[in-house]
Amino acid sequence: MKVCYPGTFDPITNGHLDIIKRAVSLYDEVTVLIMRNPAKKSLFTETERRQMIEACLRSLPERDRITVEIGSGLTVEYAKKIQASAIIRGIRAVSDYEYELLNATANMYINDRIETLLLIARPEYSFLSSSVVKEIGANHGDISGMVPQEICGLVSAKLNSL
Ligand code: ADP
Repeated sequence: MKVCYPGTFDPITNGHLDIIKRAVSLYDEVTVLIMRNPAKKSLFTETERRQMIEACLRSLPERDRITVEIGSGLTVEYAKKIQASAIIRGIRAVSDYEYELLNATANMYINDRIETLLLIARPEYSFLSSSVVKEIGANHGDISGMVPQEICGLVSAKLNSL
């Protein structure tokens, strides 16, 4: 079974990476989908985000079962186009659940053959988001435990240059 994991990944965090690893341990193929969102102002370009995700995946033994793509439009339509049977999302708190429940129900309305699967964040990552990384990094805090080491220098440099 092929699944996709859509998100903004601006930048990828250890929480995202954990979801990717868990998804690939459950399913045959995982496509990490950087969804274009004109309404959201991002720090990194889509290409930079893809390169960072690829750098973090390079050392994984399951690397050949994971692809990274940039998508646009409706996630559920993109999932259908790439023949993914399900959309994976992560849940950190009840607030995430409320948001994901609405999205998953809307997706079901559009295409009820594509399931949404929710994975619960590990407790050590449940506070972690790309926004938290950006907030702490921009104020010269230590982000080394929050993003994969492959991209830590790059993310810090970008945040320090703001
Ligand atoms: P989006 O803008 O689509 O929410 P994000 O990149 O912020 O994109 O998140 C993508 C998905 O990963 C979402 O389902 C989000 O809840 C989940 N996620 C984000 N951070 C974590 C984390 N620390 N642990 C588990 N899941 C997470």
